[in-house]
Amino acid sequence: MAEIKSLTCVDCGHGHQAELIYKCERCEGSLDVEYHSEVNGEEAEAAGKKESGIWKYRSFLPIAPNSEPVTLGEGNTPLLRMPSLEMELEQSEVYFKNESANPTLAFKDRALSVALTAAKQFNVEGVVTASTGNTGVSAAAYAARAKLPCKIYVPKKTPNEKLRLMKIFGAEIRLVEGNFSDAYLMAAQQAETTGWFNVTSTFLNPYAVEGNKTIAYEIHEQFGDVPDWIVIPIGAGPLLVACFKGFKELQLAGKTSKLPRMAGVQAASCAPIAAAFENGLEEVAAWKQPIATVASGIADPLTTYPKDGTRTLKTIYASDGCGIAVEDDRMLHYQKKLAKEEGIFAEPSSATAIAALEVMKRKGYLRKNESVVSVITGHGLKDLMSIQ
Ligand SMILES: [Zn+2]
Repeated sequence: MAEIKSLTCVDCGHGHQAELIYKCERCEGSLDVEYHSEVNGEEAEAAGKKESGIWKYRSFLPIAPNSEPVTLGEGNTPLLRMPSLEMELEQSEVYFKNESANPTLAFKDRALSVALTAAKQFNVEGVVTASTGNTGVSAAAYAARAKLPCKIYVPKKTPNEKLRLMKIFGAEIRLVEGNFSDAYLMAAQQAETTGWFNVTSTFLNPYAVEGNKTIAYEIHEQFGDVPDWIVIPIGAGPLLVACFKGFKELQLAGKTSKLPRMAGVQAASCAPIAAAFENGLEEVAAWKQPIATVASGIADPLTTYPKDGTRTLKTIYASDGCGIAVEDDRMLHYQKKLAKEEGIFAEPSSATAIAALEVMKRKGYLRKNESVVSVITGHGLKDLMSIQ
């Protein structure tokens, strides 16, 4: 079991006890779960043998060994090859990790399963989240499973299918004027006044972020090694950061000697992290230009928390990766192509992970003989209005 050493500030390095906190008490930086010792790969595998999905890797997660997981069978999603795209892009090995096969049809279930299990450990009376849609649906379902009330702050423009799902799972929805960053502030205030657990899936909740690491262990097992590139659609970017952390843990555990290069993909009209990468900057600034994209799931201007973007940018640099912005017409093109030629219906935000490949090739990041895994983060059925 990987015992938690501290919740360590990613900006100043200050350590905190593993309690219900979201920010560094000294500098308000985001927190990362640090463990006492490196996870022993053999022990980790033996410990999780009876569990399935992400809980197979529970020794890598910040959850007490005697805690009952709040689970709906998340994880263990397929890694599939994409021959039509290999032909079109003249690329030797293109795979996609189909996260739309999770219980609420998005990768968020990994994070929310761990977050709700932590919520039970902390004995909170409820959970609150800000969401562009997928986190809200996932939080609502896992809160129902955990028998905890759930309040969700969402931008008014959130796709109707996602709002209806949150309601079906019994959550209370607050529609917010403005964008995701406005909803983020309101959820934080609500958590502060009520003591409810804030499970917003930026970097705010360090326990939730850890759940995302499990995608790395699965890719490693399914691919049989480490692919050259992993391409992930990003808002603030916790999936990208956690995925890379997962691969680093595998390296420390002696399971692999190689790390993947991480590509973070954003919509061109809301691309704070990709723009900072393009300009060779060390820090991400909040996005101030108007946002007009069908990729609502990743449209996060990082208005009051640009440091979250910087954390992701640093991971991109550390992996020798890249930040990519894609136009809406290209993501919609690949959304249709995926559906018609591979039988996969991805939401527009997810199709960015495919549309990014042509840009990465054009810019010389992705070479013909390299292997690449694109993460399809969420299902198209949850955003039908974007289909023309
Ligand atoms: Zn700090």
